[in-house]
Amino acid sequence: MKWTRKQSDSFEDRRGKGTGKKTILGGGIVGIIALALTMFGGQTGKTIGTIINQVNQNRPQTQTVQKRQLTEAEKTLGQFTEACFVYNNETWSQIFRENNSSYKKPGMILFEDNVNTACGSATSATGPFYCPADHKVYMDLRFFEELHTRFGAKKGDFAIAYVIAHEIGHHIQNIVGTNQKISQLQRGKSKAQANKLSVAQELQADFYAGIWASRNKNLLEAGDIEEAVSAAQAVGDDAIQSRVSGTVRPESFTHGTSKERVYWFMKGYQTGNLNEGKIDKIHSSIAY
Ligand SMILES: [Zn+2]
Repeated sequence: MKWTRKQSDSFEDRRGKGTGKKTILGGGIVGIIALALTMFGGQTGKTIGTIINQVNQNRPQTQTVQKRQLTEAEKTLGQFTEACFVYNNETWSQIFRENNSSYKKPGMILFEDNVNTACGSATSATGPFYCPADHKVYMDLRFFEELHTRFGAKKGDFAIAYVIAHEIGHHIQNIVGTNQKISQLQRGKSKAQANKLSVAQELQADFYAGIWASRNKNLLEAGDIEEAVSAAQAVGDDAIQSRVSGTVRPESFTHGTSKERVYWFMKGYQTGNLNEGKIDKIHSSIAY
């Protein structure tokens, strides 16, 4: 991607700051089991349940996170991220203006290890996310190494640009009321139906990422769209489930298949037309 340095007062880089304490526990069930195995490894004959209970009794476990200098590569990556954040805000303010509305920009925070948000605390294992309660995008950039090494996405800056645009897409859904509409529709529904609504919401964020790309073609270099498509493919529920557990369960999907994610990103990119990605239309296109 062709980019120049752009700064925003609502962007915060907390990497290397040495936030003091790091909570070891709290990485979800996987984190707890992994820790249990580290702490109690070799205690054969005990069930996982017993081990987790023991770990819980030992809570909280903390260690100090050291302050450190960021490498040059890390600094550049942070600046690239900030520029993407600004490009997204510029594009959406323009779109809102065209629709006689005013855009309220989100915040963005780069973190390492763990972070406290208005939506609760999260670790790097959560992956990039948007918290609707504080209107901020949270991202640990090391996620992208994992996306490449573990999930097979092509390496490249536009994979990062796509993910940022997707998260800002959730901010758009938040400020125009789509999030609230989805939560309302999910009430009283079966798990599978509620999941399908989540899928529609995620695919619309992909569509919005495509809309952003379509309005920033001047920034694109050869291969950029392929990088975004490869990232969208890598984070499809079917791709992740088959890699992690070897089985695919569509009723448990929350983000959509690789094919759907690519389709809706490309739909936004090729049409540049917001009317093509209405939430009802996306929802009714989901076949499972
Ligand atoms: Zn999302």
